[in-house]
Amino acid sequence: METGTNSAPVSIEKNESFRDRIATVDESGKRKWIFAQKPKGKWYAARTYISWFFFILFFSLPFIYVHGRPLFLFDVTEAHFIIFGKVFWPQDFFIFGLAMITFIVFIVLFTAAFGRLFCGWVCPQTIFMEMFFRKIEYFIEGNAAEQRLLAKAPWTGKKLFKKTTKHVVFYLFSFIIANTFLAYIIGVKALGKIITEPVHEHVGGLFSILIFSGIFYAVYAFFREQACTVVCPYGRLQGVLLDRNSMIVAYDYKRGEPRGKYTKKVTEDHGDCIDCMQCVKVCPTGIDIRNGTQMECVGCTACIDACDTIMERINKPLGLIRYASENGIENREPLKYTGRMKLYTVLLSILVILLGLLLFTRKDVDATIMRTPGMLYQQRGTDSVSNLYNIKVANKTISSIPLKLKLEGVSGQIQIIGEHNYITVKEEGQGAGTFFVVLPANIIHERKLPIKIGLYNGNERVDVISTNFLGPVAE
Ligand code: SF4
Ligand code: SF4
Repeated sequence: METGTNSAPVSIEKNESFRDRIATVDESGKRKWIFAQKPKGKWYAARTYISWFFFILFFSLPFIYVHGRPLFLFDVTEAHFIIFGKVFWPQDFFIFGLAMITFIVFIVLFTAAFGRLFCGWVCPQTIFMEMFFRKIEYFIEGNAAEQRLLAKAPWTGKKLFKKTTKHVVFYLFSFIIANTFLAYIIGVKALGKIITEPVHEHVGGLFSILIFSGIFYAVYAFFREQACTVVCPYGRLQGVLLDRNSMIVAYDYKRGEPRGKYTKKVTEDHGDCIDCMQCVKVCPTGIDIRNGTQMECVGCTACIDACDTIMERINKPLGLIRYASENGIENREPLKYTGRMKLYTVLLSILVILLGLLLFTRKDVDATIMRTPGMLYQQRGTDSVSNLYNIKVANKTISSIPLKLKLEGVSGQIQIIGEHNYITVKEEGQGAGTFFVVLPANIIHERKLPIKIGLYNGNERVDVISTNFLGPVAE
């Protein structure tokens, strides 16, 4: 065996042919359907409880409204996001940028330390596949052996009934998931309109629901583990993210090899692995974990449970397959907090602090002020000069703001064009306006005078914008 990361090889078996192709493809390149046996054990039970928590969260979050607006909304079509009730606009792109970098560093650190813990325990693809759709399949088609027989059986009425029922149920749940998914993007209220109002008014929305439903159905009914082994970029990055100290689901080859069939007679000539293949039979990606770390392993722990059950039966210590690092297995070392992990932790801490600061100091109002293009200045009688400006404002709060403008640190006045002496910016909306800045001619001593304009919500100054005022003085 050779470990699958960039680390030095640990040879315990020379046959490397399993690396020639992924486990779900045969010699001729055709898909090998995985009939994974249902795991049973403490890890599977723990994952089941976590999956319930996940499902409750996933299906309920879009329905949670605080002060009349969703707690979470990821409206990519309008570039409008609500996270924990806080509204984010495209103007907050630097927060998003930093959040993305923080997230990537977190992923790198997390993976370096805990391997594919995310894939096995939290990834929606694994959770929906293994804890939802696979369970429906067990319920309708029976266990792995029965599923295999059914697949080979001729098309009788019974087979047709089971297959049709399974696919109808899969599609129905895919439809529900697609609707929930869309609720995160457009909000439950908008989704409700698509569902209840006449079809011709929401052709685009209905089309999106059908597309999403089709994609989810195709993934869970047919594509399945290929999403993790062929498509997911995170899975393909494992080779560079993991090292010999990362925690992985690992087979203890030192203890298990040489493997040999179980006999009641105590023998010293083989290890604890009795080659029962239970770890392979439960694997949803069809691999043999005894071959070492492989890209296809999603860290689901099914093989740990399967092997522990066998170890219990043959009266051997549990944990022949367990969470461990490659070094841990080879040198009998405990999991380590390495220099690389420490470095990532420092980096991550800095990023989290920065992100926290940005979020904490984030303004409720974002404005840009620009002088009206193509205009220089206007003489106002003999003693004043004016410049015309355009203002665009994004209001990130849940209340409408009557925005007043005041000159800061300079005498003069601001004249807003329109009926009012303020610009109304609707809640979670954008506003725009045009205004003159009028300055006394005697204070203009340079062609480009830097000025500051304060934005006020009532008496509260919400922002100060710097701009330039063009005057008639030659440079
Ligand atoms: S389940 Fe355990 S004993 Fe059986 S083949 Fe796998 S590693 Fe060996
Ligand atoms: S090898 Fe084990 S942990 Fe990895 S995917 Fe297969 S069953 Fe899950």
